[in-house]
Amino acid sequence: MRFYNTLGRAVQEFRPIEEKTAKMYTCGPTVYNYAHIGNFRAYLFEDLLRRTLEYHGYKVTQVMNLTDVDDKTIRDSRAAGLKLQDFTRKYKDAFFEDLDTLRIERAEHYPEATTHIPEMIAMIRVLFDKGYAYRSEDGSVYFSIAKFRDYGKLARIDMAQQRSGVRINNDEYDKDSVADFALWKAWSESDGDVKWDSPWGPGRPGWHLECSAMSMKYLGKTFDIHTGGIDNMFPHHEDEIAQSEAANSCRFVNYWLHCEHLTIDKKKMSKSLGNFYTLRDLLGKGYDGKEVRWALLGTHYRSKLNFNLALCDQARATLKKFTDFFGRLKTLPEGPGGAEEARKLADEADRKFADALGDDLNIAEALSAVFTLERAVNSALAGGSWQSAAGEAVLACFRKFDRVLAVFDVDAAASQGAAELPPEIMALAERRVEARKAKDFKTADAIRDELKAQGWVIVDTPRGPEVRKA
Ligand code: AMP
Ligand code: ZN
Repeated sequence: MRFYNTLGRAVQEFRPIEEKTAKMYTCGPTVYNYAHIGNFRAYLFEDLLRRTLEYHGYKVTQVMNLTDVDDKTIRDSRAAGLKLQDFTRKYKDAFFEDLDTLRIERAEHYPEATTHIPEMIAMIRVLFDKGYAYRSEDGSVYFSIAKFRDYGKLARIDMAQQRSGVRINNDEYDKDSVADFALWKAWSESDGDVKWDSPWGPGRPGWHLECSAMSMKYLGKTFDIHTGGIDNMFPHHEDEIAQSEAANSCRFVNYWLHCEHLTIDKKKMSKSLGNFYTLRDLLGKGYDGKEVRWALLGTHYRSKLNFNLALCDQARATLKKFTDFFGRLKTLPEGPGGAEEARKLADEADRKFADALGDDLNIAEALSAVFTLERAVNSALAGGSWQSAAGEAVLACFRKFDRVLAVFDVDAAASQGAAELPPEIMALAERRVEARKAKDFKTADAIRDELKAQGWVIVDTPRGPEVRKA
């Protein structure tokens, strides 16, 4: 497998630390509101990565943190008049519900920041002992970026151009404000009752520290893959590298993968711009999880995805087409006809699918293998010689694709597609074909009208006449 590693700005062969094992850390949500579909684009990219690794036979250990204490959670819990835990609980629950709706496979660990404060304090102690951390007048503790020689290596910041000793206390800042960042934030009045004791006085950890401390606990000091949206690269990931490598004196992460933004009218979807849809907004408009999943998965993770509802409509039409397709395969007459040809087509499609995904998650190529198979199968079906064994070989291949794509629900869809043609309707349609063969157009037209009255239409396709719901 090969991935684009932000650290080297190149596609590189994936060499895990342990054979056929992938340990990955994926930055998770700040639970102060419902996640929007821009956030879910990042989590879906990570799901695609995880499922692709599994498809290629890797054992994956994934960690995703839940940021349940930071500037925003404190601000909004106070505004809501709730205790921090009660406030964040609601959004944690909503997050997991949304993951299920989008069929995002569960990570192995979802550590919460508030239950890992001792690990974070321990890490600050090490940074203090090694001379990387200092305490400011107000009791906050900062990381001195001038002390860490490699600072800027991920975001490619030229440190020679920077002033040293500038400090920044908020969690998120832009690339122009390269500065010492807070490891521990001293308690202030606006924090209300949110505080923990530490050797440096009461306060709470900085956001960046949480990922360094928790990744080390669950994945070790050095692990394979770290991901996030591209906006996480600086300062968040740069600061994680600084903390972890300074504390542990070894490499933190081997492969950094970042996904591009989901945009609306070419602008990044974000809470602050107010240009967002939550998943719930889309469900409210009548789309379902697999339609949204398909709409968000179809664009390569390193390209921007400009979202609009037409994408969901297209997803719906495409998935409906597959439902009918599976139904046709499920209702082929019993027998071995075409099985060998079907298996050959399926094997080739599967090989292309796996290779494409293994090549930096090339989803366009992978989907093209899926569509090519569907087209080839449809023309074979038009020949009329394929029987159930051939249908089963193709369905088995789609079940396999679905271990990564998770949109087809092959068997449920096949039964639905098949059930959509009740036997009496099928019988009528066959009688019409017979009538036409016998040039009895009067009867054929009468049957067409009869079908129409019952809510079915006959469509003449290159594959022959097909009955569809009106
Ligand atoms: P946050 O809750 O802001 O820390 O974001 C959670 C994850 O979503 C991070 O990996 C972000 O980089 C990612 N993210 C936020 N907005 C977008 C967006 N518009 N498109 C893609 N990813 C995003
Ligand atoms: Zn993080």
